[in-house]
Amino acid sequence: KEFEKLGVSKSIIEALKKKGFEEPTDIQKLVIPKILNGENDIVAQAQTGTGKTAAFGIPVIEKIDRKNEGISCLILTPTRELANQVAEEINSLKGRRRITVVPVYGGQSMELQLKRLSGNVDIVVGTPGRILDHLKRGSLKISGIEYFILDEADEMLNMGFIDDIKTIFRYTPENRRVLLFSATMPKEILNLAKNFMKGYEVVKV
Ligand code: AMP
Repeated sequence: KEFEKLGVSKSIIEALKKKGFEEPTDIQKLVIPKILNGENDIVAQAQTGTGKTAAFGIPVIEKIDRKNEGISCLILTPTRELANQVAEEINSLKGRRRITVVPVYGGQSMELQLKRLSGNVDIVVGTPGRILDHLKRGSLKISGIEYFILDEADEMLNMGFIDDIKTIFRYTPENRRVLLFSATMPKEILNLAKNFMKGYEVVKV
């Protein structure tokens, strides 16, 4: 009953049951209602293994507008492994909802990515370098996204992606919602939030 209390819909709860998710984790209890009902951008401090992927995955699946012709959500991850993992987790959470998730990262065939991105895509999950490549080429358009999610932001910072992230922010529309997840909160991450996020809320587990 716990997921129901957070405002998660029946069909998603079915999908969660199949995965063996009976109770929400702490970060999910905190963040899911905020994403579902609130309007603020969110900075969430959470370690890997806390269930952070589903904490943003579940409400984003609930909220994205499938009538949106373009991409509704962009998720940045530090590594290709995490991009694939996040894409798989979202696919396993979506239940019967027709949502298309495409992972995009360096080292994967450009041709394949161009083909996938030219189709009907709702969520793109990728590493900053390759995402920026596609934005510059015009093969990825994010001017209509509703959600911009940064997963493991501190890892992306450690890997030298900070400038790419700032550039990617400039391609996003004014009215998108930003959800930033990070295990630690170094100054550069807080500055990123200050400079690019509006009236954001900080949550911590
Ligand atoms: P994450 O922190 O997103 O990497 O998730 C860590 C692991 O916990 C993943 O294998 C998830 O599938 C799993 N998980 C996430 N939420 C729940 C939940 N509410 N109940 C049980 N397992 C979960």
